[in-house]
Amino acid sequence: MLDNLSGRLAGVVKSLRGQARITEANVQDTLRQVRLALLEADVALPVVKDFIEAVKTRALGQEVLTSLSPGQALIGIVHEELTRLMGGENADLNLAATPPAVILMAGLQGSGKTTTSGKLALLLKNRKKKVLLASADVYRPAAIDQLRQLATQVDVSFFEAGDERDPLKIAQAAQDHARKQFYDVLIVDTAGRLAIDEAMMAEIRALHAAVKPVETLFVVDAMQGQDAINVARAFNEALPLTGVILTKLDGDARGGAALSVRHITGKPLKFIGVGEKPTGLEAFHPERMAQRVLG
Ligand code: GDP
Repeated sequence: MLDNLSGRLAGVVKSLRGQARITEANVQDTLRQVRLALLEADVALPVVKDFIEAVKTRALGQEVLTSLSPGQALIGIVHEELTRLMGGENADLNLAATPPAVILMAGLQGSGKTTTSGKLALLLKNRKKKVLLASADVYRPAAIDQLRQLATQVDVSFFEAGDERDPLKIAQAAQDHARKQFYDVLIVDTAGRLAIDEAMMAEIRALHAAVKPVETLFVVDAMQGQDAINVARAFNEALPLTGVILTKLDGDARGGAALSVRHITGKPLKFIGVGEKPTGLEAFHPERMAQRVLG
């Protein structure tokens, strides 16, 4: 594990090696480096503070103080706690509903909602599900075209809403159609705004009440870094989220947003977006993300 650590953490571990005893001062110093590593990875400050406190409590217990290699033991605790905070295990989609199981996509414009809707459709199609995609984004005709094209690309059905301009009516009609045509899953893409606004939240709440989704997935851009925390809080307060998808992890983002979003919402991260193509979706692995966040 040492090989994967950032130079900063590896240096601390090295300096602790061979010391018979580890002192509170050693622990403080290591945690200072961990704190910097987390902030560099864009984990939100209040989340970093809570995390450091939790690790400190454990580290000052017997575990580290009596360990043969205190530096390694300490970093081990950091890694374990990070993994635990990110949910411990991978969480899959829950589609245990009377078909059609509805998946509602929520998030800001540009977060990757529409792309991710297409990716999920492909993933579910590969699991032998009959999938229907529908767009309730009536404000951007381009968004509807984008989803229609994605549906064609991944070869699943797209719900044509015709002249209907009411997102609620579109979603209900899509659900009705899905029921009559025996679809297993209906994925509803929704409108996003560039920033959180009350009208958007009211609309998505109404959509949620209308279609009663079994999964309400919050899509968030990993590149948003520190801002992700505010967006996550707003969506979590507005909707009973069931999971999170963190997009654009193929870029430079260190993944700190994963920790912040999980901390704020308490909801499992289910997938990560790792590319623009429909195949660019992977299951979220807390353990791997912990490694990435540590650098
Ligand atoms: P929406 O407004 O939330 O529906 O966002 P879009 O789905 O239109 O995505 C916005 C931009 O982000 C598009 O250019 C997508 O190709 C891109 N995008 C979405 N997910 C990913 C991802 O996981 N990785 C990369 N590199 N780009 C992504």
